Amino acid sequence: MTNQCCNSHKNSEKTCCSSTVQSSTKQEKSSCCNHNEQQTVSTILNSNPSVETMSYRVHSMDCAACALTIEKGLSKLKDIDEVKVNFSTAKMQVAASNADAFLPIETEIQKLGYSAEPLNSRGNFKTYEIAGMDCSSCAKSIENHLNTNPAVKSVSVNFSTGKMKIEHSNTAEDIIAEVSKIGYKASLPVNKQSSPKAKNKNGNALVMLSGALIALGFIGSFSDISPLLSTILYAIAMVISGYKPARSAFYAIKSRSLDMNVLMSTAAIGAALIGEWLEGATVVWLFAIGNYLQTKSIERTRDSIRNLMDLAPPEAWVKVDSDLIKKSVEEINIGDIIVVKPGEKIPLDGEIILGESSVNQAPITGESIPVDKSIGDSVYAGTINEHGSLDIKVTKLVEDTTISKIINLVEEAQEQKAPTEAFVDKFAKIYTPIVFILALVMMVLPPLFRFGTWGEWFYKGLELLVVACPCALVISTPVAIVSAIGNAAKNGVLIKGGTFLEKAGTITAIAFDKTGTLTEGKPKVSDTKTLTGSEGELLSIALTLEDHSTHPIAKSIVGYANKKGIPPKHGELFKNIVGKGVQATIEGEIYYAGNPKLFEELHISLAEVKKYVQDIQSKGKTVVIIGTKHSIIGVIAVSDTIRETSASALNALEQSGVQQTVMLTGDNEGTAKLIASEANVHRYFAELLPEDKVDAIKKLQNEGHHVAMVGDGINDAPALATADLGIAMGGAGTDTAMETADIVLMADNLDKLPHTMKLSRKALTIIKQNIWFSIIIKAAALVLIFPGFLTLWMAVLSDTGAALIVILNSIRLLKFKE
Ligand code: AMP
Repeated sequence: MTNQCCNSHKNSEKTCCSSTVQSSTKQEKSSCCNHNEQQTVSTILNSNPSVETMSYRVHSMDCAACALTIEKGLSKLKDIDEVKVNFSTAKMQVAASNADAFLPIETEIQKLGYSAEPLNSRGNFKTYEIAGMDCSSCAKSIENHLNTNPAVKSVSVNFSTGKMKIEHSNTAEDIIAEVSKIGYKASLPVNKQSSPKAKNKNGNALVMLSGALIALGFIGSFSDISPLLSTILYAIAMVISGYKPARSAFYAIKSRSLDMNVLMSTAAIGAALIGEWLEGATVVWLFAIGNYLQTKSIERTRDSIRNLMDLAPPEAWVKVDSDLIKKSVEEINIGDIIVVKPGEKIPLDGEIILGESSVNQAPITGESIPVDKSIGDSVYAGTINEHGSLDIKVTKLVEDTTISKIINLVEEAQEQKAPTEAFVDKFAKIYTPIVFILALVMMVLPPLFRFGTWGEWFYKGLELLVVACPCALVISTPVAIVSAIGNAAKNGVLIKGGTFLEKAGTITAIAFDKTGTLTEGKPKVSDTKTLTGSEGELLSIALTLEDHSTHPIAKSIVGYANKKGIPPKHGELFKNIVGKGVQATIEGEIYYAGNPKLFEELHISLAEVKKYVQDIQSKGKTVVIIGTKHSIIGVIAVSDTIRETSASALNALEQSGVQQTVMLTGDNEGTAKLIASEANVHRYFAELLPEDKVDAIKKLQNEGHHVAMVGDGINDAPALATADLGIAMGGAGTDTAMETADIVLMADNLDKLPHTMKLSRKALTIIKQNIWFSIIIKAAALVLIFPGFLTLWMAVLSDTGAALIVILNSIRLLKFKE
């Protein structure tokens, strides 16, 4: 029942959580919040409903320990209740008891050596970059000037970040013109990546420079030049690449956090103190180069998701009377008609009202084969109109499109800690202080008892300080999870968090709903048989009964009767008999439409149709018997075809290591048997009521399986919640499916399920490899300290080098293919 609890928990919090965007003049509340905000600040929200939350993107974090430093540093600020920083996604959530508490966040984070940009600029808030400010009073001047403009609701200019957050009702051009009037240059950010990348370039040059200085000093030490010159070169190299970690270490110590910056800086300074300048400079240089490479590799993972955001075009051609006007997607409303020419990307979700084309839906569903679309079909933002001009009636605002939902869900998913990660984090929190204290003890005790010289043990202590960094271990899980979730998203599969990815990696049995999952779910009437009266009369009664049911079988009968032009009768007191059929009163008599079980329970003899029913069922068709309490009027046979890709997907699942595939259906034994053999499932359970499906899942769990259930997300909700993992199919069409399941296959077939299972298993393997690798490297380094085999630079290499290997191993998941 975990999933059910989890979902209802999410839902209940969704209504109570609010995010606040702060400004100089007023606060703006937006009712939308993401799961992560709910999760991370849930405890506070529960105890204090007046808590506000803000999300930020954090730049320049080199290692998971930086996240902890920021958390500790910011938690100390006035009225800040909780800070959660996620290193892998570079996102931070802050909860505070009042909106003003957010004001110093960006400045404070800069003091710690990082930068942050607010993310909840939803609603009408826009962020501009301001150039030309050279003092904080300039910021105030811009604010004051814009506050006199009636179109501006609120504005806040941050001098240190050069950013202006503003809520305004006029156009962006107006704002830019207003700002330029008072001598500054405002612009909408073109590429959010530009600033951190520019920083990376600078970092790169500094690392290279300090490497060159170390090399010079080293070469110099073999020549006749004074040793002092070499020492000076080492010292300059230390300052160049050690400035940033030292500054971060200072703030870490101030906030009583023992991060790797503190450990590395202490080791380097210690080395210099005992005259080991080369060692000290190498430590700092290797640390900087390691961090630089780690940041660079991890940016690739972060980018993979941000690239999704560029999928949908920012502008669209809107039909206004007979003209076509180019508008930004933000300005387009539901009901507007947009025109998409051949070869163009579709800018918003909508319904085709004119034209025909094939649409490549790969960005959403991961399927590269284009889908034919015509009038009445739904299309999604970000997909590509291959040929034929389309007139589309917009059905979703830009922030509600399927692709933006995917992006939000994926970002939230990546921020949730998987059980392994949470465990490793706990371990690291205890490990570092213990080893730190051990290092101090080692520096003092052995020489005190004359087991060696002070210098020898001080050096060993410094090595232990470096070994105390659990960087590789901390990073072993999150990068793998973020990469795997990113890979899945690109394949049209939403994995709602590391927990579900880990669960998917252990699944041994998968249960499938039959109708709509293994089969097309669009049954068609194939035969009819009447016992009394005409076929028209039978269909008229059937139409009257089924018109009020949403069951696919009912829809097929209604469609069939309508096509034949059969009129309905006057019916009343409609009732749905779950898992069996329907009933209604027509001209004073109760009529039923349903399966043989329903009629058996009503004690109505089926003798007259028994042979016909058996015959139809043996062909894999479903029978709908129409009758009253006294007699049977006729039988309608309905057949549903198996999806083209079901059998191949099930075969691929078997190869991916899933031991059992099981079909669950409310349908009769005969049909179940036939479809089960066509789909290649190992087992089937037939004639199940919805609650029986839950029992079937429990049965599989009692047999020792880790069970996943695949359904449409709506009708199978209880079974999906009972299973260890709930997987919904056809997410692109239904929002509910996207929100309730743990994993969502955006396409309307099982094609990507084997890939998802293989990817999850691979992710688990990589996480295990990473954890063992980091532990073994640390253990080896620890052991090598004592015989004196380890040098300081080797200790650093064992840390940053191992972290880099772990990251590179993890990002293989981004490219993982079947
Ligand atoms: P379900 O589990 O909802 O698919 O229903 C199980 C079985 O009940 C179906 O396979 C049909 O035989 C029967 N049934 C359910 N609803 C209807 C309906 N509206 N009309 C006819 N038969 C139905």
